[in-house]
Amino acid sequence: MIKFFEKDPYSPIQYVYEISRILYKTKSPYQEILVVENPYFGRMLVLDGVVQFTEKDEFFYHEMLVHVAMHAHPEPKRVVVIGGGDGGAVREVMKHDCVEKLYFVEIDREVIETSKRFFPTVSCEIDNEKVEIKNMDGAEFIKNHKEEFDVVVVDSTDIIGFAKSLFTVEFFRAVRESLKEEGMFVTLSESLHFHRDMVVDVQKTMKLVFPVVDLYTAPIATYAGNWWTFSAASMKLDMREPRRSMVNGRRFYSEEIHRQCFLPEKLYDDLLNNRLDW
Ligand code: SAM
Repeated sequence: MIKFFEKDPYSPIQYVYEISRILYKTKSPYQEILVVENPYFGRMLVLDGVVQFTEKDEFFYHEMLVHVAMHAHPEPKRVVVIGGGDGGAVREVMKHDCVEKLYFVEIDREVIETSKRFFPTVSCEIDNEKVEIKNMDGAEFIKNHKEEFDVVVVDSTDIIGFAKSLFTVEFFRAVRESLKEEGMFVTLSESLHFHRDMVVDVQKTMKLVFPVVDLYTAPIATYAGNWWTFSAASMKLDMREPRRSMVNGRRFYSEEIHRQCFLPEKLYDDLLNNRLDW
C-alpha cells in the first residue's frame, strides 16, 4: 500500500490515505486530476491534491448541497449547477421530477469525462436530455441570464484559483439577477472549525446582495474540519422550511434533517457578530 498525503491549502491538519491502486492521473488545462482507490472509501476523486469525494460517502455532501434549496423552493423547474464536474449534484437535482431544464456549467470538461469513466454511480444523470452542459466559467455564464432560474447551486473546488470568481460580490449580484421571484441559491462555504473567517466572509458578502441569507451544516468525513457549511440565499422565502414532499432515493437528507441542519439562531448571530470565544 502506498500513502497519499492530501494537500489541502487551508487545513491545519493533514489527512493521509492508504492507496491500494492509482487508477488514473492527468493534468487538464485547469488542474491535476487523480483517481485512486482506498480500502475503506473505495474510489476517490482528487483535484490538485485535494480529495473532492469518495465513493463511500459522497451522498452526504451531494444530497445536502442540493436538496435543501430544492425542497425549500415551491416548484424548481429551471436549475443551474456550477462546477460539480463529477455529476453528483446533477444526479441529485434530477431526482426532482418538476425540473424541466438543468444547465450544468463546469469549466473543466476533463473532470466530466473522468467521472463518466471511473464514477458511473455519480455521473449517471449527466447525459439526461434535460441537462445542458456548458464548459465555461460559471461567473461568465450567469452574467448572461436574467430572471430565469429557480435554483442556482455552486459545487466548486475550494475558494482559491479559478473557483474564486464564484465567491465575489459581483458574482452574487449576477446570481440574484438571474433568479426568478422566489429563486434560491446555495454554495459550499468551507468548515466552521477551520475556516470560520471564510464562512463569515461569504455570509457577509451574500448579505450585501440577497434579501434572505442563511447557513446550514452537514458532517463530511473527508473534508478537513468535517463540520461543513453551506451558505444559502433566497429572494423571498425562508429556506428553513421544506415546501415540497421528499423526493425518492435519498440516503441521508430528510425533512427532519432539513429542519435541524440550519445553525441555531443564537449561534448564527454570535458567529456573524464575532462573539464566539472559540
Ligand atoms: N462534487 C464535489 C464533491 O463531492 O465535493 C466536488 C466539487 S467538483 C469536482 C468541483 C468542480 O468545480 C471542479 O471540477 C472544477 O473544475 C469546477 N469549478 C471550479 N471553479 C469553477 C468555475 N469558476 N466555473 C465552473 N466550474 C468551476
